[in-house]
Amino acid sequence: MSQFKMWINGKWVEAESGKTYPVYNPATETEIAQVPLGGKADVDKAVAAARKAFPIWAKKPQAERSQIAMKMSALMQEHAKELGAIDTMEHGTPTKTAAASVVMTAQRFEWAAYNGRSLMGHTVPSTAEDLVYLQREPIGVVAIITPWNVPLAMVVGKLAPALTLGNTCVIKPPSINSLTTLKLAELIEKLELPPGTVNVVTGPGGTVGESLAAHRSVDMVGFTGSCETGKRIMALASQTIKRLQLELGGKNPVIILDDADVNAAVAETVTGQFRNSGQICGSPGRYYVHEKVYDEFLEKYTAAAQKLVVGDPADERTQMGPLVSGEHRNRVEGYIKSAIDEGAKVILGGKRPTALPMNKGYWVMPTIITGITQNMKVAREEIFGPVACFMEKFNSDEKVIEMANDNVFGLTAYVWTRDTARGIRFANQIESGTVQIGQSHGWGPELPWGGYKESGIGKEGSLYGLYDFTNLKRVQVDLQAMKK
Ligand code: NDP
Repeated sequence: MSQFKMWINGKWVEAESGKTYPVYNPATETEIAQVPLGGKADVDKAVAAARKAFPIWAKKPQAERSQIAMKMSALMQEHAKELGAIDTMEHGTPTKTAAASVVMTAQRFEWAAYNGRSLMGHTVPSTAEDLVYLQREPIGVVAIITPWNVPLAMVVGKLAPALTLGNTCVIKPPSINSLTTLKLAELIEKLELPPGTVNVVTGPGGTVGESLAAHRSVDMVGFTGSCETGKRIMALASQTIKRLQLELGGKNPVIILDDADVNAAVAETVTGQFRNSGQICGSPGRYYVHEKVYDEFLEKYTAAAQKLVVGDPADERTQMGPLVSGEHRNRVEGYIKSAIDEGAKVILGGKRPTALPMNKGYWVMPTIITGITQNMKVAREEIFGPVACFMEKFNSDEKVIEMANDNVFGLTAYVWTRDTARGIRFANQIESGTVQIGQSHGWGPELPWGGYKESGIGKEGSLYGLYDFTNLKRVQVDLQAMKK
């Protein structure tokens, strides 16, 4: 078992309270580390350090900051196996994908580094008498509050643009699995940044997270997590009108039209559904399958889901590991029960494995529920587990678009058709930040990610995601008034 410290003002420190909390391996339920139980006093220290570092870091030439971001990417890739192993241990991410996911995540720093160097402002049409130009500047101290579902990627998605573009940061990682972020801080230490440029404060959302969101010296909050917490952060941040970037939940429709390539749709949606045990905001949330292909799709989907290898995440063969915690497993099981109570039918899984892969741990087998109607709880709320929700069959494009949009979330949507024009018609009418047609794969830091409606505010990735971490300033000069 290891004892971790927090990274504040360029030093590894204990919490002011001297207290710690445990982190567990979700596959074995064993305690793997103790982490400082930070609180308001630790937040105050970290924010003060970030505030002090801000003018120093912000004034550095962008070329220098970009070189540092490139170095960070290289360090992450060099330590990908180590970071991946921690992710497997504290989150249950299968070894098969853990290190590769670190390498992919490192690209965020490269993207910010390259594009930061050419993040140009522009001039506004001027006259001979005056000049108007726009420039982008760092915002200040950015609080980064992240969820447990893909701990490293969630931090880096915000840290890479924020840091590279001249902001200083205070990170609050998820309590349940804070270790990958603390390991990341060990790599940050190697960058020899001005003390306080990046800080990590571990501890509960209710104290550390809330103190950050309400803090007078924090200029922006970048948050990924549940809608409920996002609303609370918005309320706290409103006290000082902080800039917000919120990446919240989803209940993403998957629409399988009658001309879909069923085999391709099955292969991709099964992968997308059960990856990370379904604990992904972009996972399929509601399947709407056209009546002409419903039986074929469901039969093939069930066969593919049955074949998934569920087991020890440290085993190379494993495709699906445990859920992150006992509390979350109970929550997922509660959703399955609610579906049954409301009249839906579980046709696969719905249970823990008969023999637990590690004799312990928080497992739910790949589950398929059919006969779900629009108002059932499992159709409206995000389950965040290995549970595929099949809605009743449909036979009208107009009706299915209406049903897809009938939800408070608008994160992403998938449309399976071989008819491009039909796919585009769906894309134009679906209320969500992303629509993927005839595919559900594909990721890159150049792609924007962010929701409509209650799924959030702002974008991660792409140039828009970089802009989110900058202020836009208008400079206007009266040339006539200038000395000749
Ligand atoms: P939570 O909202 O519970 O927690 C997210 C983070 O916020 C954690 O660090 C948590 O701390 C902290 N927090 C909790 N309460 C508060 C508070 N009152 N004030 C400030 N911070 C607080 O989300 P989960 O960790 O359960 O993550 C799952 C959710 O994240 C799902 O809804 C999922 O859809 C969403 N998500 C969205 C993504 C997107 O890109 N749109 C991507 C990934 C996930 P602590 O850990 O200490 O509780």
